[in-house]
Amino acid sequence: MKRVYNFSAGPAVLPEAVLEKAASELLCYKESGMSVMEMSHRSTDFQNIIDQAEADLRELLNIPSNYKVLFLQGGATTQFSMIPMNLFKNKVVDFVHTGAWSKKAIAEAKRYGKVNVLASSEDKNFTYVPDLTNIKISEDADYVHIVQNNTIYGTRITKLPNTLGKPLISDMSSNILSEPIDINDYALIFAGAQKNIGPAGTTIVIIREDLITDDYLEGTPLMLQYKIHASKGSMYNTPPTYGIYMCGLVFRHLLENGGVKAMYEKNLKKANLLYDYLDNSNMFKGTVRKEDRSLMNVTFVATSDELNKKFIEEAKANGIVNIKGHRSVGGMRASIYNAMPYEGVKALVDFMKKFEGEN
Ligand SMILES: *Cc1c(COP(=O)(O)O)cnc(C)c1O
Repeated sequence: MKRVYNFSAGPAVLPEAVLEKAASELLCYKESGMSVMEMSHRSTDFQNIIDQAEADLRELLNIPSNYKVLFLQGGATTQFSMIPMNLFKNKVVDFVHTGAWSKKAIAEAKRYGKVNVLASSEDKNFTYVPDLTNIKISEDADYVHIVQNNTIYGTRITKLPNTLGKPLISDMSSNILSEPIDINDYALIFAGAQKNIGPAGTTIVIIREDLITDDYLEGTPLMLQYKIHASKGSMYNTPPTYGIYMCGLVFRHLLENGGVKAMYEKNLKKANLLYDYLDNSNMFKGTVRKEDRSLMNVTFVATSDELNKKFIEEAKANGIVNIKGHRSVGGMRASIYNAMPYEGVKALVDFMKKFEGEN
């Protein structure tokens, strides 16, 4: 069977070259005589795999030495608990509320302390990013939490708030490695791997060392303490070994293909192709305010629900799959992560043109 163009929001498309490499090593990894899946996490081979993965991620994002890189489990969602459990001192957090993922993180943080919502775009169903230039950071806030790319609504924060020295925490689950960033702007970045990195099961945390302390909320399980994972090189317990191996292959692939800067240029080209078409179409239109559009998740609707449905069905029959929008937005969503080739977006736009002509 031929591979399709998979626009899934996550788990999502992976680079074909990476899948081929993994397939070639599936039965026997190098000289080990076994699969990475079958290997002890304490073996030299696996230690080399995780060390290389970390080194490559550090190179890709230019991560300074005063930041730790952790490979954890539990998805981005576990970070919604882990962050307050580790960082709450005054038990106050400032949030920028831009969609479903900030909503979930807010609900979790509220279980442990006080949440101030400094800015929200809920009034317009999260179709824009609120102005963050004049938000008033709370004096007693332990940190400020933002969701940099809103996977469901298709918005993206491009201008970071000035947090007046408070640690800035960014959920980059759906945009990590898609564009250059300055790690120094952040105190902690987290991302579930299954959108822009690798298979589900690994969560990447990049955390500034001064945030790793012994000062947790009472009762915080050992498994939810950053310190124990940092001090054990992400191997306090068995880490998601195969997932880390796959993430490592993706990092290597990115480095061999120009790194984050090259990805960003390619992502801009892909997003512009699709948005330009949406802006000129009489049938389809984007759902997000122009200046806040995501480069990774493109949300759009046709002129009627009937057409949305018909489009999704016919696209699928033409090898363009997982294009249905999230139920809270409706319509369509094309997730065009790093691993989606330009040809995939071109195929989508060509199909949209054809569909528009026929309907
Ligand atoms: C998918 C997603 C999450 C949740 O990730 P899990 O790994 O399923 O816990 C959180 N935040 C954002 C921005 C996401 O896109």
